[in-house]
Formats: sequence, C-alpha cells, structure tokens
Amino acid sequence: MNHEHPEFLWYNGKIVPWDNVTIHATVIPSLTSSVFEGIRAYWNPDEGRLYGFRFREHYERFADSIKLMRMNVPYSVDEFVDGSVETLRRNGHDSDAYLRPAAYSGHPHQGGHWMPDPDQVQDVFIHTKSWPSILTREDGIHCGFSSWTRIPDHILPPRIKCHANYANSRLASIETTINGYEGALILNMQGKVAEGPGACVMMVRRGKVITPPVTAGILESITRDTLIEISRDVLGLEVEERDIDRTELYVADEAFFCGTGLEVIPIASIDRYPLGDGQIGPLTLKIRSLYHDLVRGIDKRYAHWRIAI
Ligand code: PMP
Repeated sequence: MNHEHPEFLWYNGKIVPWDNVTIHATVIPSLTSSVFEGIRAYWNPDEGRLYGFRFREHYERFADSIKLMRMNVPYSVDEFVDGSVETLRRNGHDSDAYLRPAAYSGHPHQGGHWMPDPDQVQDVFIHTKSWPSILTREDGIHCGFSSWTRIPDHILPPRIKCHANYANSRLASIETTINGYEGALILNMQGKVAEGPGACVMMVRRGKVITPPVTAGILESITRDTLIEISRDVLGLEVEERDIDRTELYVADEAFFCGTGLEVIPIASIDRYPLGDGQIGPLTLKIRSLYHDLVRGIDKRYAHWRIAI
C-alpha cells in the first residue's frame, strides 16, 4: 500500500482515486459546519486479517450529526459501512488503520444565508490511513484542567461531531500543552467534569468505575459505551454514570481517557496531583487489556462489534 496517502477514497458512493477528491478554495468557509467520524480497524496478526470495530455505531452517530446539522446526505448507514469495508480492502491495509469519514457542503458559502438549500446534496468522503494502536503504552499521561469551559448542548452541542466544536477542544488542548501537560480535562457549564478535547474520561474510586453522563457536555462516545458494557458484564465491576467533581478526580484511585483514536490512556496525574501510586492502576490495566483483545478479535466475544475486512 502507498504510505504517503491511500490510493482510493470512498467519495459520494464510489471508490475514487485520491487525486480526484478536491474542493475549490471558496468552499473553505462552509467547512466549519462539516461533520465527521473517527473509526478504527485493528490488524489481527495471527489471523492475518483486519477487523473493523463498531462501524455501525459510528455511522449511526454520523447520521445523527448529519440530521442535527440539517444536512442532505443521501446515503444509508449500510452504504457507509459497506463503503468503509471496500475502501480498506482496495487500499490494501495490512496493519492497524483509522477511518475518517466527513460530510460537508462542497458549495461556496452564500454570505449570511444559513438555511440549507434543499436541492443541494452534501458531499461525503471516507479516508483511510495507517495508524498504529497505542494500547500497550507503559506509562500514564500527566494532565491538567483547562481554564476553558466545555461548550454546552444549548450553545454548540458536543453530541454533534462537527468541526466547529473542535475549536473549543483545540483551545483547551493548546493551553494545557503550553502549560506543560500531555492531556487536557475540561469542566462543563455546571463546573463538573465533562471530558477531554478528544476523549471521554473515566475514574476508579473504591473499586467502582465512574464516568460523567451523556448529558454532561460530552460526545456520546462509542469507546465509553464499550467500556461500560465490558466492565459491567465481563469484569463484573460496578459502573456509575454520574457527575464528577474536579476534586473527586484528584483523589481518584485511577483514571483514564477513552476514545477511538486515543483508545484507553491511563492518567498518571492531574494538575500535578498524582493518582494512586503513579503506576497504571490494576482496573485500568484489566479494562485496557480486555478492550485490546476484543477490538483485535483475539477475544471472540462481542462478535457483533467486529466486521472482518
Ligand atoms: N469526546 C470527544 C470530544 C471526541 O472527539 C472523542 C473522539 N471521537 C470522544 C469523546 C470519544 O468518542 P469515541 O469513543 O466514539 O471515539
């Protein structure tokens, strides 16, 4: 496969060579309202096969984002899933891969006129690239709370995976990077923990796994959903979805970020408060290793979450 860029993209229902997917510069101002997804496929070395992870749920969320932004996109979840499988195959991926679907207006922005033209159909591409997993990382990251507040549902809904929302994530992430941290945490309008710029957060306190609810100003994360289910049903842990105070995170026994791209990343400290003994916590390790085996198809349970490419 070509390692600079894939040979093909899925573009408006067809497999198309990379060079044929272009936009005119006048379209750029329309692009902040574009919606997107981030999806992974994992290579199983023993089987010599790639497994897509929860494609259907990602494209259902993509369809929700499209609906909420009142976009006109004439493809079904099934077509996106099939298009993703075909694009991965055509590009010959033989290692961990990442898919970036996006729906956007390919038309020049008409100044001040926000009402979508019902006759204008939005463009959609699915871009695939190699992206190795970091699930075996041996240390946790040092995080800090950003001074920026998470955008709330009644202003700019984090439930929509829309590029405009990521300006909020970008501000938080750049601020904490400049302040010497590897990761950012963001509080919501109620002063409770929301999430990170590109991942949800979970903590372990007194043996319980606790994570903010989907109404806390977070993206409805598919990894979060996966970890809640496997923590409860496979590991037999108690899981609570409830508001988390900033100070509760400082005294948590363990905490980690979770998301498709970032996978499960242990947090070593927050605002220089060390969590636990500074090593990756025992429940974080258990949850992460189960997630690793499931996404790669090493553990055959939850077969409905995987699609063989
Ligand atoms: N929150 C935000 C803001 C994100 O960008 C992501 C990554 N998509 C997540 C949470 C995690 O979502 P998921 O597990 O579906 O990738």
